[in-house]
Amino acid sequence: MKFYYLDFSALLVMLILLSVLFFKRMIRGDINRYFLLLLCVSIATTVADVWAIMLDNGVIEGGETAKYIAHSLYLFLHNATTPLFIVYCTALTDTWVVGKYRMIKKILFWLPLVTIYVLLLFNGNSQKMFYLDANGAYTRGPWFGMLYLITGIYVVYGIGKVIRCWIYFDIGRWVALFSGIGFMLIATVIQFFHKELRIEMFSGALALLFILLMVHRPEEMIDNETGLLTQTAFKNLMFRSEKRNKLKKIIVFSVTNYKKTHAKYRYEQEIVLGRGIADIMTGYTEMFKERADVYHIGSGRFAMVAKAEEPSINVVNVARQLNETLSKPFELDNTEVYFEPNICVIQFLKDIQDANTLMHFIEDLGGTGKTDDVIFARDTFKQERYDILTEIDDILEDAIKNKKFKVYYQPIYSVEEGCFRTAEALIRLYDDKYGFIPPDLFIPAAERSGAILEIGDIVLEQVCEFISSEVYKKLGLHYIEVNLSVVQCMHEGMVGNIMELFDKYHIRSTDINLEITETAVSDGQEIMDRNINDLFNEGICFSLDDFGTGYSNMQRIASLPLSIIKIDKTIVDDAGKLSMQIVIENTVKMIKALGMKIVVEGVETEQQLNQFISLRCDYIQGYYFSKPLPKDDFVTFLMDKAS
Ligand code: C2E
Ligand code: CA
Ligand code: CA
Repeated sequence: MKFYYLDFSALLVMLILLSVLFFKRMIRGDINRYFLLLLCVSIATTVADVWAIMLDNGVIEGGETAKYIAHSLYLFLHNATTPLFIVYCTALTDTWVVGKYRMIKKILFWLPLVTIYVLLLFNGNSQKMFYLDANGAYTRGPWFGMLYLITGIYVVYGIGKVIRCWIYFDIGRWVALFSGIGFMLIATVIQFFHKELRIEMFSGALALLFILLMVHRPEEMIDNETGLLTQTAFKNLMFRSEKRNKLKKIIVFSVTNYKKTHAKYRYEQEIVLGRGIADIMTGYTEMFKERADVYHIGSGRFAMVAKAEEPSINVVNVARQLNETLSKPFELDNTEVYFEPNICVIQFLKDIQDANTLMHFIEDLGGTGKTDDVIFARDTFKQERYDILTEIDDILEDAIKNKKFKVYYQPIYSVEEGCFRTAEALIRLYDDKYGFIPPDLFIPAAERSGAILEIGDIVLEQVCEFISSEVYKKLGLHYIEVNLSVVQCMHEGMVGNIMELFDKYHIRSTDINLEITETAVSDGQEIMDRNINDLFNEGICFSLDDFGTGYSNMQRIASLPLSIIKIDKTIVDDAGKLSMQIVIENTVKMIKALGMKIVVEGVETEQQLNQFISLRCDYIQGYYFSKPLPKDDFVTFLMDKAS
């Protein structure tokens, strides 16, 4: 008499697992797919086992043929699980065989299983594996031990593999994987001696549950919203590729207007958008014969990674087609959403050599806005930028210590007065090793490390010194615009610092305008509000920088003591488009109605100049008039213009 209650329990556990996989959309990507396959085969094995036991126990009627089929089916399926488990581990670690002897290695791997299958196929005649005795009872044949032997071979191979792959796992995962194997081994031994106790399937189900929770870690590897693989999964894959020196062809899609769409849509709508992108990208993976996986790396970034080092299809073509598809509007609740794609093709290890740098590079993608054509990392990737980033803390410390920061001034033209009345102070850094380092690169790093506080003081001090100089008084400037970082705005001592400097250089609070950015003020931090209001009460005016780059909360903007709004260069660049003109016209009207002045930034052409002058904007800043200049050149520039 065999017990099949444990089989029923196993079925229950595995069906729950199966539903979890489907509800969590864990069906995409190699790792998911092989886990799913393993689970399905285990479920089928259990069903076959129950069927066979029921026939054996006489619970259901069936002839000898039925018994043969049921037992053979069980053995067929059951013996496939160990090799499939190894395949799953291979997918987990991305350690597929490559190279010249690939085919031979593959054949060698499957050979033992094929041998079992051949033996089982001919068992009807040979009766070597099992047979039905005189009473019609299932009996193990003389060669039955072959099954254990071959499974044993796979188990040894699998254990060897897991041990060899230990570097690809963190210790927790590795132990979990081993415990899973341990479970199975113990159960197999028990069942070998007590074949009436059908414990193997149940312990298999538990091992799968254990692996799902501890190794697969869906919460970490699978993005709940899109069902795609996560950034963690992507990083893991890239670190493994780096270690194993394996090339990866990657297409990264970055939604350059992510911040805007992110703020505009409801949570549920965003999920629909994310799933839309996931479906489009997953659709394109079908073009690869060896498949490709799609990852959602967060903040509007998605990546498609080809499985093979040399994919069957030209990755650039796929990228181009993807670019075309994603440039088209996406339907959402009867409105059209434009993604403004930036698509980049990266050959990992060729264009970029290490995973950390790759992650930084991807983070930077799309920062410069939408691109019409596909871009290539081999063209745009500059190793130097990332070398600077790795050394940035030391570079900044050195620059502060050795007074390497210089303030440049970009003149700002007053439309009403027909001359230059103000200027923006912009920081410049020349490093001995790397030369000019753009502020866009070091300001964010300085904000992270806190060095921005000292840098901010350096800028303010140089500006105050300039304003207090004799030559400045001859220039006829009303004030200088100085950029403030969010970190400075949130610093308790900020107001005291600034007022001290003003005292030291005997300058008035109206000599300086402080620029704060839209994204900074949208946070609405208490300290920031207090700082801004305190400075305002001291008579300092504020300008809102980069207007139009984020999602403007007009209510918030109107509540701040702002006297100037600076329209960002990206808006100016789009100003030629018919659709943008109405938006700009109305924006200008609205700002004026709020009683604020307008500075237009990044004006480069005469056409742009005339357009904004005719819109009655107050000030113009941009290369059309001048780039930021060193103090002395700036003075000469203004003197020349005045004469
Ligand atoms: P921002 O405050 O928006 O400064 C304007 C940027 O646009 C400057 O870049 C300026 O050189 C550039 N620009 C001005 N007119 C044109 C134009 O016609 N065409 C083009 N292509 N660019 C133009 P820069 O100096 O590289 O500064 C970049 C950013 O770094 C600044 O953007 C600002 O956010 C930050 N930054 C610069 N200096 C400071 C500083 O002293 N403190 C802080 N906290 N941030 C600073
Ligand atoms: Ca600025
Ligand atoms: Ca700006």
